[in-house]
Amino acid sequence: MNGKIYVVGMGPGGQDHITPKAMAAMQGSDVIAGYKTYIDLVKPFLADKEFASSGMKKEVARCEEVLELAKTGKTVSLISSGDAGIYGMAGIMIEIVDAQNSDIEVEVIPGISASIASASLLGAPLMNDFATISLSDLLTPWEVIIKRLHAAGSGDFVVSLYNPRSKTRVKHLDTAIDILLEYQKPETPVGIVKHAMRELQETQITTLGNLKNCDIDMFTTVIIGNSQTNVVNNKMVTTRGYHI
Ligand code: SAH
Repeated sequence: MNGKIYVVGMGPGGQDHITPKAMAAMQGSDVIAGYKTYIDLVKPFLADKEFASSGMKKEVARCEEVLELAKTGKTVSLISSGDAGIYGMAGIMIEIVDAQNSDIEVEVIPGISASIASASLLGAPLMNDFATISLSDLLTPWEVIIKRLHAAGSGDFVVSLYNPRSKTRVKHLDTAIDILLEYQKPETPVGIVKHAMRELQETQITTLGNLKNCDIDMFTTVIIGNSQTNVVNNKMVTTRGYHI
């Protein structure tokens, strides 16, 4: 008898932002698999489950382990932060099931992604068209990322940056800022959100011209406004063209 795989988006942080559907999928599973930090987050309210935690950068092995468990008839929730289909585990899981010609069902449960959570804390910067760009070149060539930054800048998109900086990736953000400054004014509002919806949450609104001086790490999402973005009553708002 075959099991089933849920790939569950857990939202940005605490229990408040896990959807009821995501919680039900986890509660209906025999095993919860995922990166240790997220397992620790859900363990307190899913005490009767089996847990399979692993470290970062072991995504393929983790998905293969999930598939093996499902083949034994178990229902497994593979959990990912934010939305599992946005720089998460959903794609890899579907590809691995296909690569093994398995007929085990994979159901993706959506979650609140970091840029959506961060936007809500800043105000309403994503009111019109926006692009999300990850500055991580682990899986995407840097030349492609540069091309996308130019495309987003020339298209006057609001840009939401994931993975803006890590210990080994220190200069990428500065290059991204220089590219966007070719299209947007230095006064363009920028929102910085660290640890959205978590205990260490910090938010700041600054400008594109000042962004290089700000403290940004791998737990940060950066939302860069477009030509229609303003700061209104201390909140970042991209105007959509309503006549008020
Ligand atoms: N699947 C996740 C994204 C994973 S990529 C999602 O949909 O949110 C990891 C990047 O997401 C981090 O480098 C950071 O830029 C962003 N991120 C994840 N959680 C965050 C949080 N709570 N606050 C701010 N940024 C976060």
